[in-house]
Amino acid sequence: MDAWGDPHRSAPLASRILVLNSGSSSVKYQLLDMRDSTRLAVGLVERIGEETSRLKHTPLTGGESREQIAPIADHDAALKAVAEELAQDGLGLDSPELAAIGHRVVHGGMHFTDPIVIDDAVLAEIKRLIPVAPLHNPANLTGIRTAMALRPDLPQVAVFDTAFHTTMPESAARYAIDVKTADEHRIRRYGFHGTSHAYVSRETAKLLGKAPEDVNVIVLHLGNGASASAVQGGRCVDTSMGLTPLEGLVMGTRSGDMDPAVIFHLMRVGGMSTDEIDTLLNKKSGLIGLCGDNDMREIRRRIDEGDEQARLAFDIYIHRLKKYIGAYYAVLGRVDAIAFTAGVGENAAPVREAAIAGLEGLGLAVDSDLNAVRGDESRLISPRSARVAVAVVPTDEELEIATQTYALVGKSDD
Ligand code: AMP
Repeated sequence: MDAWGDPHRSAPLASRILVLNSGSSSVKYQLLDMRDSTRLAVGLVERIGEETSRLKHTPLTGGESREQIAPIADHDAALKAVAEELAQDGLGLDSPELAAIGHRVVHGGMHFTDPIVIDDAVLAEIKRLIPVAPLHNPANLTGIRTAMALRPDLPQVAVFDTAFHTTMPESAARYAIDVKTADEHRIRRYGFHGTSHAYVSRETAKLLGKAPEDVNVIVLHLGNGASASAVQGGRCVDTSMGLTPLEGLVMGTRSGDMDPAVIFHLMRVGGMSTDEIDTLLNKKSGLIGLCGDNDMREIRRRIDEGDEQARLAFDIYIHRLKKYIGAYYAVLGRVDAIAFTAGVGENAAPVREAAIAGLEGLGLAVDSDLNAVRGDESRLISPRSARVAVAVVPTDEELEIATQTYALVGKSDD
């Protein structure tokens, strides 16, 4: 038995994990106790570097949420402010009960197939991947460096969004372009939202009362960003996001799939620059580009009022979703379950109903009453008689990062 589970050890065991998700101007955090996977505190710092930075901290051990709006100059100041908030609740980062800090890192390339304790070589590799993740990896690196400066003695673990997808066969991961060019620029399908796809596919197996190795699942992670994955016996065999998170499903503000020649056309005929097109496709497309709203609640409200533009945006979103369900059904050959997750997947019953409608031939159906039930628990929404289970499985990326971090530092302490 490892030291972490040794009942004879008298010293208190370090069982807390701080999970940090650092964006360019924000830090989301959660402190968890891994003895029972409970959350002790959650919070968010946003608008870092602005006059109106906001820190919202919610202790979950008792007490009210606290919010402050005041300038927070940089990530270092942000993390120090977080440490102060946690200390007020008796959860200070200097506590011996803190076992490690787990960092979400968006891009791990093909190099990182598992979470890893961060050292100089790991930092260098995350930095080397900046060209394929220019928006995310620099911010993740800043968060890591800041946390390392604050607690240099503590294991810091990187958990990569791409890691779960590194099991994809080359036939799914390669684009059909010149191999030399692709290799030179490390162009391939990497996939993202990996911690969510890993967690949800495992939870779906649990819901079916089976081992992950025994089930094939199509996971539909439908949040503001959205991605689908085909998971065969616990291993990812295909996913919809690619070199970057732009490919695949229609998203809140991203276009997802389209003919790449649209880009040449916009350059040659539209006179647009690379940056303008980047912004157009990542920030001004998808649902917001189609109808002006990216929140599915607002789109449904407009549809109920007879708004045609919102209806068309919804229909395009559903059409793409159906195409991926069909594609991944074929990739997997046998499907045991389809799992809906993330903001839209967990909450928007009309999206789930419309995505599955007409797929009876594939053994897929949704029971309207079950689909209408709201809740935080994983649940089946397909009729008992259905050949393939359709499920709503709330995702928990922070818990997954904490679980992977704890497993790693527990192991290295053997
Ligand atoms: P996420 O990125 O997973 O946080 O998902 C955010 C998105 O979930 C929002 O932009 C909404 O489109 C969607 N969403 C959240 N709550 C609901 C709800 N109750 N009904 C429909 N969509 C929702």
